Amino acid sequence: MRQRFLINGAGIAGMAMALFLQQNKEVEVCLLEAQEEVDMLEIGITIAPNGMRILEQLGLREQIEAVAKFSRDGLVIADRKGEPLTKFHEAAGGNRIWALSKADLKNIMLGALDPGVLRLGQHVTDVIQTREGVQLEFADGSQLGGDYLIAADGMRSIVRQQMFEQNRLRFTGGICFRGIIPKQPVHVAPDRFMEYWGKTGRVGIVPLPEQRTYWFAVLTARKDSVILEDYQSADLLAHFMEMPPDVTEVLHLAKSQPILREELYELETLDTYANGRVVLIGDAAHAMTPNTGQGGNQALEDAFILAQLLHTSQVEKAFEMLNFVRRERVTKIAKLSRFVGRVGQIRNPLLISLRNSLMRRVPADFQHRKLAEIYELETDR
Ligand SMILES: Cc1cc2nc3c(=O)[nH]c(=O)nc-3n(C[C@H](O)[C@H](O)[C@H](O)COP(=O)(O)OP(=O)(O)OC[C@H]3O[C@@H](n4cnc5c(N)ncnc54)[C@H](O)[C@@H]3O)c2cc1C
Repeated sequence: MRQRFLINGAGIAGMAMALFLQQNKEVEVCLLEAQEEVDMLEIGITIAPNGMRILEQLGLREQIEAVAKFSRDGLVIADRKGEPLTKFHEAAGGNRIWALSKADLKNIMLGALDPGVLRLGQHVTDVIQTREGVQLEFADGSQLGGDYLIAADGMRSIVRQQMFEQNRLRFTGGICFRGIIPKQPVHVAPDRFMEYWGKTGRVGIVPLPEQRTYWFAVLTARKDSVILEDYQSADLLAHFMEMPPDVTEVLHLAKSQPILREELYELETLDTYANGRVVLIGDAAHAMTPNTGQGGNQALEDAFILAQLLHTSQVEKAFEMLNFVRRERVTKIAKLSRFVGRVGQIRNPLLISLRNSLMRRVPADFQHRKLAEIYELETDR
């Protein structure tokens, strides 16, 4: 009989995992998603070279490039007046970063799934592991058994909560607002990814194809701050009034578009991602701050590496090995991401000016080397 792999959660991690596993016709793959439809929220996402290489392995590169835009003019971090603090050139390090709508990415991945793999409206509420397999219970009381469970159910993973001891989500002191503007603002450079670091927060502007623009704003705030619910784009505009015209124009245009608001959390490093027949991948295993744009890219890496390990090892061993192979790299990137967030959110004016002058002095070569480390896959070493 074919072994049945249950994958809980049809986000980037779960879909990538299902796409790799369905290539092996000797296993049955059930991708279970709580929602009645795969979430197609209109926000942007950046795919770095490491993530793109994995999407290429899945045969999706061409489709993705057709709906994405890359940082042809580089990625610039600037101060609140628009003076560059640091500049990453795509050409210098071969570090092409792609930006696209997350809905487009998910649609492409969804379209590549074999019929019958994805089962929607399957909200897992309980997990039981026995010597013979894994049993899931759903919100409607129904059950489904399988041989193995790959939990890709995100930062608040129910599987992690029930089957792993550590579960501490840490609030990072930031609230993020983001959205997509359906037209090209006149002040936005069409091929440059910009991030502005101000006194009271950061704003990112990322051009997308078809003249759309993805933007995000991160404000420093306390947990459960009223800002989360009360802030409208007009408040954001007032907040970032001191910033250059592309920022104020984008925030002005954001007025008529949906805005996603969320408090930023990260997961404390787990001792292990594996527990017998169960393994965690993606945000379920290592939710990190978004400051290096690597959460989704690391979710893709998990799926790719686990698929490779499953080719050569018995399943439970492969789950254990995933933990050994991935934890150091993921932890390092999560740390870097946290560091970038802290440095970017400094509020003390003296420290800001010290930070800015230090950043301007860091040699470009050094920065490109650091980026290359992130963009290299484990399999490259
Ligand atoms: C502001 C911000 C900006 C970001 N920008 C980037 C970026 O530019 N590039 C990048 O690579 N990453 C970025 N990230 C991170 C990235 O979005 C996440 O790391 C990535 O989406 C995680 O994917 P996932 O599949 O692990 O989890 P999720 O996307 O959370 O998917 C989990 C899925 O599981 C389902 N699920 C949950 N519970 C259950 C249950 N009990 N039963 C069944 N199904 C369930 C959910 O409905 C969901 O579909 C950003 C994050 C934030 C917050």
